[in-house]
Parts: sequence; C-alpha cells; structure tokens
Amino acid sequence: MSTRDFIEKDYYAALGVAQDADAAAIKKAYRQLARDLHPDKNPGNADAEARFKDVSEAYDVLSDPKRRAEYDEARRLFGSGGAGARAGFPGGFPGGAGGGQPFDLGDLFGAAGGSRTGGAGGLGDLFGGLFGGGGGAGSARARSQAASGPARGQDVETEATLSFEEAILGVTVPLRMQSPGTCPTCSGSGARPGTSPHTCPVCQGAGVTSRSQGAFAFSEPCRNCRGTGQVVDDPCPTCAGNGVTNQTRTITVRIPAGVKDGQRIRLAGKGAPGRRGGPAGDLFVVVHVSEHELFGRKGNDLTLTVPITFAEATLGATLTVPTLDGNVTLKVPAGTASGQTLRVRGRGVPGKGRPGDLLVTVEVAVPKRLTPAAEDAVKVLEAELGDPRPRITAAVQQQGGAR
Ligand SMILES: [Zn+2]
Ligand SMILES: [Zn+2]
Repeated sequence: MSTRDFIEKDYYAALGVAQDADAAAIKKAYRQLARDLHPDKNPGNADAEARFKDVSEAYDVLSDPKRRAEYDEARRLFGSGGAGARAGFPGGFPGGAGGGQPFDLGDLFGAAGGSRTGGAGGLGDLFGGLFGGGGGAGSARARSQAASGPARGQDVETEATLSFEEAILGVTVPLRMQSPGTCPTCSGSGARPGTSPHTCPVCQGAGVTSRSQGAFAFSEPCRNCRGTGQVVDDPCPTCAGNGVTNQTRTITVRIPAGVKDGQRIRLAGKGAPGRRGGPAGDLFVVVHVSEHELFGRKGNDLTLTVPITFAEATLGATLTVPTLDGNVTLKVPAGTASGQTLRVRGRGVPGKGRPGDLLVTVEVAVPKRLTPAAEDAVKVLEAELGDPRPRITAAVQQQGGAR
C-alpha cells in the first residue's frame, strides 16, 4: 500500500460505514459485503472482484486500531480522501489545502536555481512521526517512494511533413526531437562525478514538508531538495544538479497509412524516457501532408480529373489512368457529359477496412486553336448536330427581341 492509496482511498465509504463507526459495526459491514461480493458468488464479475479487493483492503486498515488512527490522522491533515487529495504530486500529497494545484515533479526540473539552502525547518518531522514512526507495515517504504520513486517521462510533441503518397501508404520516418533525459554525466544523480547526493536534512528524504497556516496544516514539496528527498553539495557541471538535461534524440517512427493533413497522432511510449525506471511518455506527431500534382483526397477516396476529347465523350472510350499503386483502365460510356465522375472501386486510400475508391472526373477538353481543316470539320459536325438547346430557343422566341 502506498502513501497515496492511504490518503486517497475512502475506506469508510468502501465499507459503507460512518467515520465514527465502532469496531463491531465495521466488522458487521465487512462480513456482509465480503459475503455478497465473494468471487465464488460472482464468477467472472470484474466489478465485484474489484469491490471485493477494496472492501478487504479497507477492512485491513480499519480493523487495526493503530492503522485506523494513522489513516484518520492522514485524512484529517490532507483532506477527507476526496478530490483534494488527488493532485498530481508523486506520492499523493496535495499541492496545498488552499490551491490544490496539480504538482508535477517535471516542473521541478525546469525550475533550476531554486533555493538549495536550508529553508524553514518546518514540520518535516511531523511526517516522520506520521508515516515513519508509526511502524506500520510499508510506511517507510512509501515515504522513500514519494521522494525517489519511478516517474513517467514527459510527453513530447513534434511535427512531420509527408508527401501525399507517404501519408496514404504509411511511411517510416526519422524524427529529431528534444526532450529531457537522464543526464549522461552524472547518470541522473545530479552530483558531480565522484561525489554522491545525501538525504535531505529538512524533509529527511520524504521530499515534502508540512507547515501550518491558521487552522490548516498542509504539505508542499520540500524547497530544500525540490521534492527529490536528496541534496547535492557539489552539483554536476552538465545538468547543474538537476539530473536531467535537454537531449536531442533521433528516433524512427512508423506513421500509419491513411493519415490526414493536420492530424495529431499519438505514439505511446515514444516520448521522453522515464526516470528511475518509470515508463516513457508519449510522442505526439502533428502531420503535414503535401499536395499531389494529380490526385486529391476526399476521406478515403482519391480524386483525379482527366481531360477527354469531345470524340471520347460522345463515342465512348477506354482510358488508362494512374493510381498510387499502378495504372488502371476504365470505360467512359458513350454520351458521357463533361464533369461526370466515374468510380473505380478499391483503388483509393488503402485502410484497415475497405479501401477507398478512385473518383475520376472527366472534363471535355475544348481546343483553343484549330487548324483550318479542323475548323471545317467542326462546322460540318455542328450542321449535323443541329440546335443543342431547343427549349431555350423556344423561350427566347416567346419573349421577343433582346433588351
Ligand atoms: Zn548531471
Ligand atoms: Zn527535502
């Protein structure tokens, strides 16, 4: 059980008893719940199983007078186990009773030059009494975890510009990115090579201190060691004692097929490396896609505009057009109008499900200049075809002369 669990979990609520319930009432509530939620009675029910564990854990603490007293005291100091205790300080201490602002260990490393001199001695020893001195199982371990436990690496965002084809087919690209990483000189200890950090005298390694303000006592990250629980007398010259430096890394990432311009994709675990064995953060890549000289894109469909001659439009034709993956032939039916779109199934954007289609829009090309022979031929054709707009002609005649 970590310190965070200790403070965040509402054991009274888990058992459905009042905070001043006596030992008999707690035992009775536990027995009833344990019967109802027992896995033998709820095979395959994950909810019941999770509740059963919570109830057992709550009973473990509340049935032991010493541990119950510790728990009550912790809740009294850090809130009632509700939202206030869920701020982000590793180890679970709230950022402060007043603000309740999330506190991220990552912030500490950014804020170089913080006070390293012995600040207010404060109530650091209050914690020792509360969590260290009680002798409760695991409490000392929980304390050191708060100070130097694993920390997840930061999320990192970067950009990648892909060609039209790369975005559609997927591509593996090298990405250079800057992110905080373990200092190579001191291996993250923050101490000059050859020296080593020692336990912070102010917080005794807990990484947090408490102080009282009016009626409230609340905790904050130890200013002397900036929450790490350790102080460095002779800081590492590379990282100035932070244990972390900004590092440029080149990693190779696979951009999946079918990404769109402006899309932000998440690559889990490809962000900044974790500290002290913590998991890496995530990498977010904002994708920019260049335009293609021929193709456009509409969702999963590819679009292509193909000029055809008047003869092809009227008589019909078989066209060969490119796709992103080889050529394809399609039939233009006789009497196809300019602007009509023909669909070639399955030759659009490949994807996990059904691939998109290729949408070919034909446009009748109108020549700007004609040879005399071509001009004669067109005139012959015009005479053969007659008036293409008889209804318009009729309406015009009805109206009489132009105005
Ligand atoms: Zn260093
Ligand atoms: Zn400290």
